[in-house]
Amino acid sequence: MIPLNHAPLLQPAVANIALSIVVPIYNERDSIPALVSVIQASLEKLAIPYEIICVDDGSKDGSADLLRDYAQQDRNLTALLLRRNYGQTPAMAAGFDHAKGDVIITMDGDLQNDPADIPKLLEKLNEGYDLVSGWRKYRQDNKVTRLLPSQIANWLISLVTEVKLHDYGCSLKAYRREVVQDMNLYGELHRFLPALAFIEGARIAEIPVNHHARKFGSSKYGLGRTFRVVMDLMTVYFMKRFLTKPMHVFGSLGMISAVSGIGLGVYLTLVKILAGQDIGDRPLLILAVVLFLTGIQLFSFGLLAELLMRTYHESQKRPIYRIREVVAQLSAPEG
Ligand code: UDP
Ligand code: MG
Repeated sequence: MIPLNHAPLLQPAVANIALSIVVPIYNERDSIPALVSVIQASLEKLAIPYEIICVDDGSKDGSADLLRDYAQQDRNLTALLLRRNYGQTPAMAAGFDHAKGDVIITMDGDLQNDPADIPKLLEKLNEGYDLVSGWRKYRQDNKVTRLLPSQIANWLISLVTEVKLHDYGCSLKAYRREVVQDMNLYGELHRFLPALAFIEGARIAEIPVNHHARKFGSSKYGLGRTFRVVMDLMTVYFMKRFLTKPMHVFGSLGMISAVSGIGLGVYLTLVKILAGQDIGDRPLLILAVVLFLTGIQLFSFGLLAELLMRTYHESQKRPIYRIREVVAQLSAPEG
């Protein structure tokens, strides 16, 4: 058998860490020294036990070696070095899996987010929220290539997910541990974490945070990201609407389509038999056939989706509900 030498990664939460800061890092060598020291400065003031988890996402500029040095000197800092470049979402997921804190805060490794906002996020979280998202009210990025697409994306996301935030793309966010544990990340879904958390019943708030222009290195994304965001948005929409009831959508659509097809077919048959007309070259005939076949397809697809959904939930022992709190008295029954 292969020894499970990665077991520590999967160890359960250790209660004495209050705060985990997760920072994905891809080719940010020049930012790292300042990044670590500003995070530390901000956290030392809070005087609570914390850890900083820097996830190196396969950097090629020596970021990994630098992080290794830092981690060896500082017991509050953990360097998670991924084998190759997976992307920001998997890097964040790795950080989440490794984080031990009751509260997890994510931020970018390029100094665009300001760790001085951390206390504000925590304060808001303590008001009873499960997720507090940063809003880069005065965002310091290129207007045409970044702000415009981002505005459109924000508008679309808010329309589709019904989670009303101004800025979904801000990486500076604070989560309660349970919320993060309930979410599965794929693709570039980190942008939709509030939406995914909302599906899981989280209470979400937003506060304005600082944003700085990038000092070192360059952004890892271009305009191509917009399309991927739209695709991910569709996935999230589907998850939100139909995750536990795919048959409701595919079944009903299929039913409508098949029944219309049958209706048209019956009409054409009557026309043929009673009125004696030729129906072989009528467009309506094609429509009837297409509607009927599409209906059957959609219906069977719904059944398959229903099976898949069950596998999805049951294979992970994933309940179809989330409990916020259990209130009960611990006394023994009387008598
Ligand atoms: N990042 C990463 N893996 C990638 C791309 C980006 O870990 O494949 C990190 C990057 O180092 C930064 C954060 O994700 O800390 C956000 O990236 P970036 O600043 O390029 O995005 P922007 O702020 O321009 O939206
Ligand atoms: Mg950035």
